[in-house]
Amino acid sequence: MILLGAPGAGKGTVAKGLVDHVGVTHLSTGDMLRAAVKAGTEVGKQAQSFMDRGALVPDEVMVALIAERVSQDDCLSESGANRFLLDGFPRTLPQADALDERGLGPQAVIYLDVPTDIIVRRLTGRRSCPDCGTPFHVDFKPPKADGVCDVCEGTLVHRADDQEGPIRKRLDTYTAQTAPLVQRYADVLLTIDGNQAPGAVLEAVLAAVTGRSPE
Ligand code: AMP
Repeated sequence: MILLGAPGAGKGTVAKGLVDHVGVTHLSTGDMLRAAVKAGTEVGKQAQSFMDRGALVPDEVMVALIAERVSQDDCLSESGANRFLLDGFPRTLPQADALDERGLGPQAVIYLDVPTDIIVRRLTGRRSCPDCGTPFHVDFKPPKADGVCDVCEGTLVHRADDQEGPIRKRLDTYTAQTAPLVQRYADVLLTIDGNQAPGAVLEAVLAAVTGRSPE
């Protein structure tokens, strides 16, 4: 499965819900890249300047990263079939081609549809815990103590690319390079209204994917 949607559409939150309810391995290229930057790996060094200014990391770097990751055991079901959820990949038509060339075309593409003005509000107020990944928002989901994660007491961060300039750049890049994937995947597209409370979005996604609601 692939999760498709603008930055801030709620892909990470839906992914967490799908992991809990459907039991699928979650592959977030943004998380993988941020971990690589933190660890100072070669990929991290290549990616950091693109990420900080809200630009896309080159396709060949991304395709190599995903190809290596999906070959690991946790991306296969017991019967040996591919079983994983891509979040943030593909983001360009060549990345989608690379999946097809490897026989990894998606069975379903979950498209989270959210109006642009809502996306901008969500992204500017977004904060997250670098230790456990829990997302917060200064207005919509503030932590109990300012700047501190409710779950693990980590220090919340405001991502460098969640500042106004990079946000505008990321949305332009999304429109130009990623939005065409909606057409590309028309045959397997499940369009979900992402402009609802997180629980309602997850419920709609689960209903579309499995035909059942969260317990
Ligand atoms: P995300 O957390 O998904 O918003 O990703 C953060 C940043 O990582 C993006 O703004 C890009 O710079 C980079 N990135 C993540 N996934 C990809 C991808 N599939 N192709 C190119 N760049 C990516």
